[in-house]
Amino acid sequence: MKLFEYSIQKLRKLLSQKEVSPVEVVENLLTRIAEVDPKIFAYSYLNHERAIEAAKKADVTLPLGGIPIAIKDNINVRGEPCRCASRILEGYLSPYDSTVVEKLKNMGAILVGRTNMDEFAMGSSTENSSLGITRNPWDIYRVPGGSSGGSAAAVASHEAICALGSDTGGSIRQPASFCGCVGLKPTYGRVSRYGLTAFASSLDQIGPITKTVEDAALLLEVIAGFDPFDNTSEKVAVPPFSKLLEQLSLKDFVLGIPKEYFIEGIDDEVRQAVTKVIAHYESLGAKIEEVSLAHTPYAVATYYILATAEASANLARFDGIRYGKRAKNYTDLFDYYGKTRGEGFGSEVKRRILLGTYVLSSGYYDAYYLRALKVREKIKQDFSLAFKKCQALLTPTSPFCAFRIGEKTADPLQMYLADIFTIAVNLAGICALSVPCGRSTEGLPIGFQLIGPPWKEDVILALGYIYQKTTGWTPPLPPLDEQTDG
Ligand code: GLN
Repeated sequence: MKLFEYSIQKLRKLLSQKEVSPVEVVENLLTRIAEVDPKIFAYSYLNHERAIEAAKKADVTLPLGGIPIAIKDNINVRGEPCRCASRILEGYLSPYDSTVVEKLKNMGAILVGRTNMDEFAMGSSTENSSLGITRNPWDIYRVPGGSSGGSAAAVASHEAICALGSDTGGSIRQPASFCGCVGLKPTYGRVSRYGLTAFASSLDQIGPITKTVEDAALLLEVIAGFDPFDNTSEKVAVPPFSKLLEQLSLKDFVLGIPKEYFIEGIDDEVRQAVTKVIAHYESLGAKIEEVSLAHTPYAVATYYILATAEASANLARFDGIRYGKRAKNYTDLFDYYGKTRGEGFGSEVKRRILLGTYVLSSGYYDAYYLRALKVREKIKQDFSLAFKKCQALLTPTSPFCAFRIGEKTADPLQMYLADIFTIAVNLAGICALSVPCGRSTEGLPIGFQLIGPPWKEDVILALGYIYQKTTGWTPPLPPLDEQTDG
C-alpha cells in the first residue's frame, strides 16, 4: 500500500512512530496528484512549496501533525486564491485564514491545495465551475457530484488524505456518495462559518470529506467549536468524537426509516443497497421503525426560495470594487457594476440572483419568502417529531448514482432534484452523514445517509463507524489506469 492510500488514522500512526516523515508523505501525495489530476481535475490550485515548507516544520505529536488536507475553493486561506470557481474572484488573494483553517494549522495539518467546485457552491455536479469540469474517479465520463465535487474526487482518487467541503443543501454528502467517500454535514452552528464565502448563510456549514468515518470524527473534533467571529456559531461543548465511536450500543436503539424517502423514482440498485444496510443494522440489534416526515415533498421548493433569497443578498458584495475582477470599459458607476457582474458571474449564479431578488421583492415577499420560512418550520417540526420515536434516521443519500457529464446541464430543475434527500437536513439545521454502501453493476458508488438530531454527531458517527467496522470497509482504489480520455 502506498502512502497516499492511507487514512488519517493510519498515517498518524506511521508519522508518530517516525516510520515516515511529513515531507515524505506530502511528496508522495504531490506525485500522486501530478499523475492523476490531469485526468480528474480535482484541484483548482496547488502550492507545492508551501506544502513542503509546512511539512518540514510539522509537529507530529499534534492530532493532525503532518496530515495533508485539501480545502474547497470557497474557504479562505491566507495568501491563497479563494475563487469559489468564479471569474468574479479572479486575482483575489485571501488576507486572512478562516477559523477552520486556523484550527487545522494549529493542529499540524498541511494544506496542499484548493479543490474545484460549482461556482459559489451552486450546483450538484461541479459542472458550474469557471475553471473546468471535475470528473468522477470511478468513471471519468461522469460527474463527481457537487458542489464540493473537487474535494470528493480528490479523496476518492487518493489525491488527498482528507478534505473540507461546504454543505448548503447537500454539497458534502451528495458528492461523497457519488465518489464513494464519507461526508459529514454538521449541525448548524457547530462549525464556524467565519472565512467561508457565504452562499445561503442560514444553511451553510463546513464539514469533512474523508476515506473513513473514523477520519470524519477526528476532523470534526478539530474544526468544531464556538467562534466569537461567527455569531451563528453556538456555545455547545465539542465531544471527543473520535473517542466515542465504540461507545454506542445498538440494543434498544431505534433507527427510523422515513417512508417519504423510499418513493418511486429512486434507482433500483440504490434502493437494494440501502435496504441491505437497514437489514445489516437490524442484524446487529437495532430496532427498525418506519416514520413519516410529511413535509418532505416541499423541501426542494422551500430551499430554492430561501437559498436564492439569501444568495442574492450575499452576492451583492461582489461589485468590482471590493474584490477581484474589475470591468475595463464602462461609462459610469452603474455600467461598471453591471459589466463587472455580467462578465464575472456564470449563468447559474445569475439565475439564482434573479430568482432571489424576485422572491424578496415587494409584493412577492409574503407569497414566497415568508411562506417558505413557514414551511421550513414545518420541516423542522417533522424531524423533531420523528426523533421522539427514534434516535437516528436512515435514507439513501441520493436517488441515483453519478450521472453523465452534460446529462442534466440543460435542465436546471432536474439538477435541483439531485439534492432531494439532503436538502431537508439543512433546512432543519440538523446533522447528517453519508457513508458508502457498495457499488452499482456499472461500478458506481452508492451511499446511505444517517440523519441525527441537533448536536448528535456522536450518534451518527458511531453508527457509521459500526457499519464500516462490521462490514470490513477499506477505502478502495478506483480503476484510473483503465480509463482513458478520448
Ligand atoms: N445543489 C444544491 C444547490 O445547488 C446544494 C448546494 C450546496 O449544498 N452548496 O443549491
